[in-house]
Order: sequence, then structure tokens, then C-alpha cells
Amino acid sequence: MEKVRELIVEWLKNEKILGEENIEVMNFKPEIRGKEMIDVTDSKLQSVSRRTDSESQVVNEETLSKKERLLEFSKSVIGCKKCRLYEGRKHLVFGEGNPDAKLVFMGEAPGRQEDLTGHPFVGEAGKLLTKLIGSIELRREEIYIANIIKCRPPGNRDPRPDEVEQCIPWLLGQIDIIKPKVICCLGRWATWSLLGSERVNPQDAFSRVRGKIYEWEGIKVVPTYHPAALLYHPGWRERVDVDLKLVKELLDENRV
Ligand code: SF4
Repeated sequence: MEKVRELIVEWLKNEKILGEENIEVMNFKPEIRGKEMIDVTDSKLQSVSRRTDSESQVVNEETLSKKERLLEFSKSVIGCKKCRLYEGRKHLVFGEGNPDAKLVFMGEAPGRQEDLTGHPFVGEAGKLLTKLIGSIELRREEIYIANIIKCRPPGNRDPRPDEVEQCIPWLLGQIDIIKPKVICCLGRWATWSLLGSERVNPQDAFSRVRGKIYEWEGIKVVPTYHPAALLYHPGWRERVDVDLKLVKELLDENRV
């Protein structure tokens, strides 16, 4: 995780040099406080007052909760124009959920409903995800949900490699703040984008990749089918249930 942190900080520094004056360089370390839902949309962020230069040089990691640090971080993300996808977005979908979550569900990219609302996993696939979360005795408010890509690709096409490369530092920043024990990747794109070809062979069918435990930066990663795929293939539910049972077992092992 240290290497990831260095990459993020270096990238943020570069952005500042390039004139992105709202970007703040933070030293990411966790501070666990109460479980609170964070809800970040463009409109809500606009109401957050911006720090002055002197205040924002270094965010004091000892005084900020994870929720506050995620909010600060989101201010670096919300106006992002690093790739072409910003041109067509209605909302950038930062992610939402419990900043102290032990479990993160990670999807691929916002769809139409997500783009319209600024929230991840709404619409039919979102409702199904909420049910799946309930099937392992958790509530949506207890976990965190994010996507690899934060702006909707036109026509819901697959994200392109250069778009993933541009966007993934944002996700790594979120993970570095939340520090979950387990990540459940939803679908092949999320899985391959996070784990990379050194851990999963892109030539392998996703059916051979899912349902296994991978190690990434000290976090257990379990891939399963995306809820949107499950809507088209209801027969895959049994496999998803098996994968989520594995996720639950990992969470229970990590319970403190
Ligand atoms: S998809 Fe990611 S990198 Fe591209 S503009 Fe949106 S936030 Fe920025």
C-alpha cells in the first residue's frame, strides 16, 4: 500500500504543478471513528467551503476522520477532466457508503441511472446488489461502493485502457483511506483493472477467475459476476451466492 500511496501523492503533486489548484496532497493514514454514511455528489460538494492555501498544504491526519478525508479527497476528484469521459457526463460518480467499511464492492463504471443521479449502483442492477448485500446479512449502509471509472462511458461501452489508467488513481486513493479487509470485484473489467495481468490472465474466461481469493496490497479480493450480468443470466445466482459466502467468511475471519 505504501507504493500505491507514493504513486497517488506524486500524481496529485504533478496535477498541482499543472495548475489544478483545488488538489490537496494528503498523507493517507486511517483514523477510525463512528460508522457514518458519506454521500458525495457534485451539488453537495459545491456547498463545501474550500480551504485556503495555507490551510490546505497538508491535511492533518490526526484530526480528520475517514469521512472527512474522503470528502477532502473527493474535492480533488469532482472536477476531473483527465480523460475524454468528462465531456459526456451529467454527474461524476465518486462512490458512497461507510468510510469505515470492512468490505468494498467495486464495479466497472457508472451507467445511465448512475450518471443521472451521481450515485453508484442505482436502477435495477443496484436493487439487485442491495439484495445480494442483504443475503450476507449486511446493509448497504455498512459497506462502501465505488467504480473503477467515475464517469459514464458513452452507450455503456467497456472503459478503454487509457481511461482506466487515468481514473484508477482516484479509486486507489479511496481504498487507501478506507482500508477495507475485503474487496468484492463485480465483473471482469473491475477484476482485471484492479488485479492486473500479473494476478489474472486476461485470456481466462471470467468463470474461471471468479470465486477465488486474490491478494492485492494486503487486501483479500474476491471477484464475482456483475449484478447487471446476473439480471441477464439469473441462473448464475447460485455461483454469486457461493462467491458472497466466501466474502462473508473472509469478513468473519477479519472481525476484531
Ligand atoms: S473517467 Fe475518471 S479520469 Fe476520466 S474524467 Fe472521469 S474522473 Fe476523470
